[in-house]
Amino acid sequence: MKNLTILGSTGSIGCSTLSVIRQNPTLFKAYALVGGVNVAKMTEQCLEFKPIYAAMADENAAKQLQHNLQQANLTTKVLSGEQAICDLAQLPEVDQVMAAIVGAAGLKPTLAAVKKGKRILLANKESLVTCGHLFMQAIKTYGAELLPVDSEHNAIFQSLPAEVQTNLGFASLAEHGVTKIVLTGSGGPFRYTPIEDLKHVTPEQAVAHPNWSMGKKISVDSATMMNKGLEYIEARWLFNASPQEMEIIVHPQSIIHSMVRYSDGSVIAELGNPDMCTPIAYSMSYPNRIKSGVPPLDFLSLSELTFKQPDFERYPCLKLAIDAFNAGQATTTVLNAANEIAVEAFLNHQIGFMEIAHYIEQVLSKSVLSEPASIDDVFAIDEWARAEMNRQLKG
Ligand code: NAD
Ligand code: MG
Repeated sequence: MKNLTILGSTGSIGCSTLSVIRQNPTLFKAYALVGGVNVAKMTEQCLEFKPIYAAMADENAAKQLQHNLQQANLTTKVLSGEQAICDLAQLPEVDQVMAAIVGAAGLKPTLAAVKKGKRILLANKESLVTCGHLFMQAIKTYGAELLPVDSEHNAIFQSLPAEVQTNLGFASLAEHGVTKIVLTGSGGPFRYTPIEDLKHVTPEQAVAHPNWSMGKKISVDSATMMNKGLEYIEARWLFNASPQEMEIIVHPQSIIHSMVRYSDGSVIAELGNPDMCTPIAYSMSYPNRIKSGVPPLDFLSLSELTFKQPDFERYPCLKLAIDAFNAGQATTTVLNAANEIAVEAFLNHQIGFMEIAHYIEQVLSKSVLSEPASIDDVFAIDEWARAEMNRQLKG
């Protein structure tokens, strides 16, 4: 029986993780659950999974949760605040930590788990985007085990040789016969929309992803393809890939979740229905396989599998992210923070869809920051970028 702490249990990835546990109750226990403010969802999860601990980021939310659980005579211990969340990621009884808090808020708790050498099931892409170098070094220093949950990275991980899997981020791809990491992306809901109409896109249209059901922030990122840009950055760190070893392809059906090209001409891909329970289950059970609850892929009901080149005019955010990686860690941190604020502004009807990239570019052009040497430096850069973006938005 493996004990899990689920950081972000009330979110989309968190709920899917609990659904995989529901499928395998004799193999996994939801030992500690962590959420932000959604008390109703957390109450429901505690009633079903009876974790030993539950924590909310928000103190009032924790009080409300405590009250609800007492009413139900549940003995789950309720905590609140960032330090308590980090403590739950470090519990000695916990084997695996699902890192699924959204945004830079996920950084400290995820690193706390790394420092205790846990198996990290990494959904929070911001950990790698904002401090990939420091994060990968920490994984090595503390002997933690890193399993990518993001579906593309999980697919690539599944398609890589075992020697690369067990020395992730440090093994040479070329020495193991790998010539390219092929990152696929659906292109989001507006892949066929005429470019001149994109400026009229509403938040409601942007969050309705055609293939995947996800949180709001990542859904908007999929529509701008900033998500693929963040994944490009994630992939370069995770797989120790050079720019020449990376390829991005739009694959609208999301059936192939990414691929690896080898020097002999072989391409190994992972295919399946677009459901995050598959990569989550694999990250929990690796190197074995367990049930995920995802129905088998029915090849005969598939239409065509198609592919096209990503177009930077349609997806300026993708280009910004690729260039940011090449500029360095300070720039990717600025990009990430600026994007978080811009997406929020778009969701609040404050700026238009095509203005997201414009505002991020403005903030990037103002950045003259030196490379971060510590996590505190990363937070300082993150803070500067948020403040600068807010200044730009006030205009
Ligand atoms: P979501 O918005 O549905 O859930 C986020 C979770 O984080 C919630 O439980 C929320 O309560 C919690 N949270 C937010 N702020 C917090 C704080 N300060 N302290 C503690 N908890 C906090 O998001 P999601 O779609 O589940 O995505 C989670 C992460 O996984 C993101 O980094 C995202 O990029 C990544 N990811 C998601 C998917 C997906 O399919 N949803 C796929 C790949 C990667
Ligand atoms: Mg993904």
